[in-house]
Amino acid sequence: MKTIIGLLLVISMVTACTSTTQKTVVSASENGVALKVAELVSAMTLEEKVGQMTQVTFDVLITGQNPKSSDEPVVIDTAMLYKAFKKYQIGSVLNTPNNRARTPEEWNRIVGLIQEYALKYSRLKIPMLYGLDMIHGASYVAGATLFPQQIGMAATWNPELLKVAGEITAYETRACGVSWTFSPVLDLGLDPRWPRQWETFGEDPYLVSEMGTQLIKGYEGSENQIGDKTHVAACLKHFLGYSQPLSGKDRTPAWIPENMLREYHVPSFAAGVNAGAHSLMINSGEINGTPVHANKLLLTDLLKTELKFEGFAVSDWQDIEYLYLRHHVAESQKDAVALAINAGVDMSMVPYNFDFADYLVELVKEGKVPMSRIDDAVSRILRVKIQLGLFETPMTNYKDYPDFGSEKFAESALNTAIESITLLKNEQSILPLSRKSRILVTGPAANKMRPMTGGWSYSWQGDLADEFAAEFQTIYEAIQANASGPENVKLCEGVRYGTGDYRNEIVDDPGIFSKMAAQSDVIVMCLGENSYTETPGNLTDLSISQNQQELVKLAVKSGKPIVFVLVEGRPRIISMIEPFAKAIVQAYLPGNFGGVAIAKILFGDANPSGRLPYTYPRFVNSLEPYYHKATEEIETSGAPAGTTFDPQYEFGFGLSYSDFIYSDLRIDKTSYKSSENIHCSLTISNKSNVAGKEVVQIFISDHYASITPPVKRLRDFEKVLLQPGESKRVSFEIPVNQLAFINASNQLIVEKGSFTLQTGALSTDFMVEETKVY
Ligand code: BGC
Repeated sequence: MKTIIGLLLVISMVTACTSTTQKTVVSASENGVALKVAELVSAMTLEEKVGQMTQVTFDVLITGQNPKSSDEPVVIDTAMLYKAFKKYQIGSVLNTPNNRARTPEEWNRIVGLIQEYALKYSRLKIPMLYGLDMIHGASYVAGATLFPQQIGMAATWNPELLKVAGEITAYETRACGVSWTFSPVLDLGLDPRWPRQWETFGEDPYLVSEMGTQLIKGYEGSENQIGDKTHVAACLKHFLGYSQPLSGKDRTPAWIPENMLREYHVPSFAAGVNAGAHSLMINSGEINGTPVHANKLLLTDLLKTELKFEGFAVSDWQDIEYLYLRHHVAESQKDAVALAINAGVDMSMVPYNFDFADYLVELVKEGKVPMSRIDDAVSRILRVKIQLGLFETPMTNYKDYPDFGSEKFAESALNTAIESITLLKNEQSILPLSRKSRILVTGPAANKMRPMTGGWSYSWQGDLADEFAAEFQTIYEAIQANASGPENVKLCEGVRYGTGDYRNEIVDDPGIFSKMAAQSDVIVMCLGENSYTETPGNLTDLSISQNQQELVKLAVKSGKPIVFVLVEGRPRIISMIEPFAKAIVQAYLPGNFGGVAIAKILFGDANPSGRLPYTYPRFVNSLEPYYHKATEEIETSGAPAGTTFDPQYEFGFGLSYSDFIYSDLRIDKTSYKSSENIHCSLTISNKSNVAGKEVVQIFISDHYASITPPVKRLRDFEKVLLQPGESKRVSFEIPVNQLAFINASNQLIVEKGSFTLQTGALSTDFMVEETKVY
């Protein structure tokens, strides 16, 4: 009787969780999943449930000198497997052993082994869930197809490319026997000092939401059919407000009032939840003094109740322990566990030991964590495991994935890289270059893969790329391969990246550089920064390094025209050297096909169509995003020049080899009700003899509002291909509710009044007739 009542309770809990969704009809398969979850939960012991909520890093399960390093080749430690799966019944494992990429075959072997033990020791035959940071392709897999990092993906302004990137990543991840990726990052990349800006889709909430939705659909499938063995579960991260620490340094305090949190940081996560993502990772930092891992208002009230997130929330690395060790909001490890689980964390990325499980069992027995919370967390985790099909197919075989690393996949990654590259300057149309020019390729990114692939590529900090991606062309190699003769293209880096700290640089003999510069017709300078992520990527000065500045000055002395190719994860300040460049190409972190993509752009085999997904600052102390306030643009008397908003390049900016003209902007009415849609259209014409893609961006400004309105906000966009001489009419439909903002009372509101719609140099005004709280 007790079991039946228990089962009924769990079923009602599970369906309660489903019934809070917007879906009115619960499908038969969803019911089947709910039933299976309920059956399992009612049969599980407390220890088994807590085990499901425990995740460890792979290094714990293999032999090695300490939990942070392992023997190579990887040897599974069967005693540890016994402990992890028999004693603790853990539910999940993450990370690549020894911080190195593996071939699909090797992944099959090692993941297969631990899955075998997990199933052998699980009384209820619950499979373990393996998670990896496959963030721009299957980035921990040797031979995988690597796309540009997210900042470059955003710069394409082409959501369709992202869906394909997601599909390919999912396919190649499944080839390894892995079914969960810790991606996408939906944090707002609005502070270039923050070392993870390149992991984001840039500074605009609308752009982040659109791009994020498509990447999720690629990972999970259009219908989130993650059980079909070619898709994986996505993980939205890092909920919430991670990207805006006051200091700009990783994992340091953020101060974000609720209305700003809701206005700028919530929309992309709301979009990710609506796209059906099955999991979410929590921000390691704190907001207004409360670490997010301990914030019930955010994790339960906002995420699970208000946004109706049905998946499970995993902690970030060691972050429950850190509530005690770093944040000092818990007085012991055990208190930290209670705080986090009661706040709404479902799974702990512990990751080095099993203490979490011991503490949580004790806490439940002591009545400090309710059993209902445990059942909720476990139900969420099991639901994803069932939907992933892991009960039927706990392991996939790389031999069933013949397209892994194929030409066809490579073509998608190359196209994405090409569409990401953003032309920022092109004086006297110096680009495209003549193939016959004598080209000196220089700078620390000229002949290395590491700066192009960035962090989380083959290793955490991305430092193994030149070993794993040796077969791909560097910028120098690709330019040489595409020039009229290889002898025309010479390499002299001048400054080289060192090993270790990403800021380490080695300066070569300037005499050799000057001699080679004098013998060239044009100097292509590949500048920027080496790979990094998280706290090792913190910086104290956003300016491009002094060594690289000196190299530019040396190049200037040659009198030869200079082209900058910027290979960088964040916009390093270049205002001191920018006047010396005739052309500037922003390459971001273009991935394995970056060299070829850059060469194609430089020689005009491809027409640049990327647009900046962030504001490129001119000065280190002027880091305002494009949606700053009017007061930040006012030149008050006595204010020194350059202290108002004056970026190097604006958000959305990017040049083309084509010449686009905007004309005939029309909107259907001059005044709208709050429930209506604004229909607008314009003509875009290509007045050049080169086919090209233009990104039409629709910005809307609210003239007056109860809290100071930003100068403008992106409300829609479309990338359009135009043949030479072609004109197209482009239409948009923008619901008035999209103009809503979060007011001082944290309400989503449209206030009546006047607005301006702007695209290119065209604009038109309209009215909203009524105020409406949504
Ligand atoms: C990062 C996450 C990542 C996790 C697992 C953490 O340090 O913040 O973005 O997914 O590690 O590797």
